[in-house]
Amino acid sequence: MSKPFPDQVVIVGGGVAGLALARRLQGLDIPYSLFERRRMSADGGLAVNLPGNAIQALATLGLRNRIEAIGHPIRRRQYRTARDKLLFEIDEDAFWGAANRPRSVRRAELLAMLADDLPQDRHWHGVESRSLAMSATGGALKLSDGRIVNGALIVGADGVRSTVRREVFGAAAGAGHALLAEDSWRFMAPNPGIDCWTVWASAEGMILLMPVSDGEVYGWAAITKSRGGTQSSISALIEMSFLFPRRVRDTIAHVAARPTRLYHSPLEEVRMDRWHTQRAVLIGDAAHATAPVWAEGVALGLEDAIVLGRCLEQTSDIPAALAGYEAMRRARVAHVQHQTDAMSKAAKLPATLRNLLLPVVGPKKYRQTYARLKEAV
Ligand SMILES: Cc1cc2nc3c(=O)[nH]c(=O)nc-3n(C[C@H](O)[C@H](O)[C@H](O)COP(=O)(O)OP(=O)(O)OC[C@H]3O[C@@H](n4cnc5c(N)ncnc54)[C@H](O)[C@@H]3O)c2cc1C
Repeated sequence: MSKPFPDQVVIVGGGVAGLALARRLQGLDIPYSLFERRRMSADGGLAVNLPGNAIQALATLGLRNRIEAIGHPIRRRQYRTARDKLLFEIDEDAFWGAANRPRSVRRAELLAMLADDLPQDRHWHGVESRSLAMSATGGALKLSDGRIVNGALIVGADGVRSTVRREVFGAAAGAGHALLAEDSWRFMAPNPGIDCWTVWASAEGMILLMPVSDGEVYGWAAITKSRGGTQSSISALIEMSFLFPRRVRDTIAHVAARPTRLYHSPLEEVRMDRWHTQRAVLIGDAAHATAPVWAEGVALGLEDAIVLGRCLEQTSDIPAALAGYEAMRRARVAHVQHQTDAMSKAAKLPATLRNLLLPVVGPKKYRQTYARLKEAV
């Protein structure tokens, strides 16, 4: 096949979506440069849950054996009340099958795996994109080290607060970004005996614990109903944890005693009517960051990269490739957003009603959400 791509692709952001696209372009022999503002991952010690479609996407990127080697299998999901009553459980092994078994993985290891074997002379770390000037034939990116880099295509893979989104879409970018919850934290802690993905929810907030190994859990805690007052947010987290079972309370006490290991993670969302112009495109969180209700952020970023790579492989007409990418991705992303909203709404119901409804609605929502995502992109 003749090389369809005459000029280079400039990728802003070296997170999951940016690195997955770099992998894809490298495989297709399409020249690219990638600029990442961090020298190393800011939350490298943390982990993520990878549902079956993320595993499927990693397999498409040629990484099935690698993720099986580094990911910890997650075979079940449990939703519990703050008092530890089991509302429902999902047998994820049965749902996804052994090949696409969900896994937890440390983010740093996931990023290292995606970056492995890529030509490092195309990757620039510690360099931030500051501004972008677009023209009919491409874009010129101004970098924090003073350089200007030209690309026939600019890809914004720069996360939920994307500068590319702001530069390309102006006011629409601001309007498409929302803060959902200020008080949310992620952390790693010794495993208090958790053997599957487990979330406990109360009217005040929720705490998720997920094993990353037999000895360590990854956790996420969010206060959804603030009590007001002047206490610090960590004190509020400790106070909220008193509502939860002992193993959860003790885990929060452990991390609260080491506050530098608690990563404050406000929950933000991005909903844009458009993800591309003639020569610029958004992928991953920059295009559609979604509350982590279904843990689809990494999967959607990987899938975006796979589909964008495929579109660029098929035509040298860049605007057509970008339009094709957006057309192929819209419905799947909208499905995840819709299911996220539905589950978030259920989580906000008064406790008695929620505890009655979730055992019936929860498994149904799980199936509705993921059945569609089982189809590979
Ligand atoms: C609390 C919480 C829990 C989550 N849990 C899960 C989970 O269990 N499973 C899951 O799949 N997803 C989860 N997610 C979502 C997931 O983390 C994101 O969807 C995913 O990381 C998005 O990848 P990305 O590459 O699009 O963006 P990012 O990972 O944010 O990467 C963007 C990169 O761009 C860089 N960058 C930003 N601006 C610039 C600039 N101007 N110049 C150069 N570089 C720049 C950043 O440094 C960063 O490295 C969670 C999110 C939150 C908030």
